[in-house]
Amino acid sequence: MIKLSDLPIRWRLTILYGGILSLVLVVFSAGVYVYFQNSLQRSIDAKLRSMAEVISQSMTDARDPSIFQNVEQLLETRLGRKPKGKLIQITDSSGRVRAQSNDLEGESFNISITAFDRAKAGEIVYETVEKPGHPRLRVITLPIMDRTKTTSPSLVQVATLLDDFDETMERLLIILIIGALTSVGVTIGAGYYMAKKALKPVDKIRKTAVKISSRNLEEYIDIGPRKDELGKLADTFNAMISRLRDAFQRINQFSIDVSHELKTPLTILKGSTDVALRKERDSHEYRSLLTSHLEEIDRMSQIIDDLLLLSKADTGKMQLNIGDVDVRDLVLEVFMDMQILAEKKNVDLIVGDVEDVKLKGDELKLRRMLWNIVDNGIKYTQMGGKVEISSTLEDGYVRINVRDTGVGIADEDISYIFDRFYRADRARKRESGTGLGLSISKWIAEAHKGAIEVRSHASSGSLFSLKLPLSGGDA
Ligand code: ADP
Repeated sequence: MIKLSDLPIRWRLTILYGGILSLVLVVFSAGVYVYFQNSLQRSIDAKLRSMAEVISQSMTDARDPSIFQNVEQLLETRLGRKPKGKLIQITDSSGRVRAQSNDLEGESFNISITAFDRAKAGEIVYETVEKPGHPRLRVITLPIMDRTKTTSPSLVQVATLLDDFDETMERLLIILIIGALTSVGVTIGAGYYMAKKALKPVDKIRKTAVKISSRNLEEYIDIGPRKDELGKLADTFNAMISRLRDAFQRINQFSIDVSHELKTPLTILKGSTDVALRKERDSHEYRSLLTSHLEEIDRMSQIIDDLLLLSKADTGKMQLNIGDVDVRDLVLEVFMDMQILAEKKNVDLIVGDVEDVKLKGDELKLRRMLWNIVDNGIKYTQMGGKVEISSTLEDGYVRINVRDTGVGIADEDISYIFDRFYRADRARKRESGTGLGLSISKWIAEAHKGAIEVRSHASSGSLFSLKLPLSGGDA
């Protein structure tokens, strides 16, 4: 069986509109029908009553019931005209007919026994009489009490044929049914057309979504300049496609970079092994070859470790071991670690003013971050240059600044240096690191709700500033 929820929205909306309208029209038509029926009946009853009262009045005035042998004549005298379409009969309390209008042709009204008894008890009774083979009649039975109210009353009965009334009601019913069916039909038609038109862009969005794949991210939805919900949906969708396009491009570039980074040491390993195998070598040559192989293997393993760390960071699987970190201790430890490297390169590594403050963070990761920045400072500073580590305080934050007098970073490179595998100086890339150091450092700073800011120009040295929130600070 087809469920409503399985149908397309345009059908569901149409059925809903049609259903609600049908219900409203049925209730409205029934109301109109009943109201007209009641008011017509009331007007019929009022006419019957006024005629019955005229007759009753005449009988009471004349006191002699025998003068009513010709009821029609009596009414003509009283009303000044012949009573049209009315059937009249006067009975005594036992139901014996004492007078009746000619139209009745000797037949009598058969009102129910209950109605007859109620009338005998002095009540004015209205009743609709239905006799097979005869038109329906509306009958009023009005008792004529004598003044003492001691004897049983005579009964005046006036009736009218209900065929006109029935015909009017039937016509009204037909008009209401035709009106309701036409309105429902028109509403369903118009509702379906409007729903289909309104939902057309949704179909367009769906068709575009079907076409989208990693190789087809140039698609975009064009439903014209619309400011409504569907326009906003299309804009959101287009923005999502554009984000996906960027993400796919980044992933592609990343895969190319990873393969490239791993392929270079492998090519070196293969090349030097091939050369070494061409002839017999002495143990000294083998040792130096293996040492250089070990360097390449270390390099690959460093790249893989860094990638693993970044992918853990990306997927939110990296946990921070938060504790109190003393900024001065952190700076001094990194200074000690890097001193040998600086000496080797003949770069002057110094520690300037460092604030004695604490922050909440993962000590190992913060050390790794500072280590990367100082390592870069030494790496990209020429012999005889200087790298200085210092710190300053700034409402709720501590800034650890690493200033070098090195090669600096060109303006066109500065916005990319935090990208994975980006190296400003491609020619020197083998000497430099893995190209992942700053990406990792940036992630560590942000994971601590901090940031890394950089100021640099080509050949004028660089300033890397690690901004980290203090323990108990506002940030
Ligand atoms: P790498 O392993 O190549 O150092 P990083 O991610 O640490 O990778 O740095 C990315 C690039 O940013 C470097 O290749 C270098 O071009 C530039 N860079 C980083 N620090 C400095 C610095 N102190 N001076 C000049 N250039 C720098």
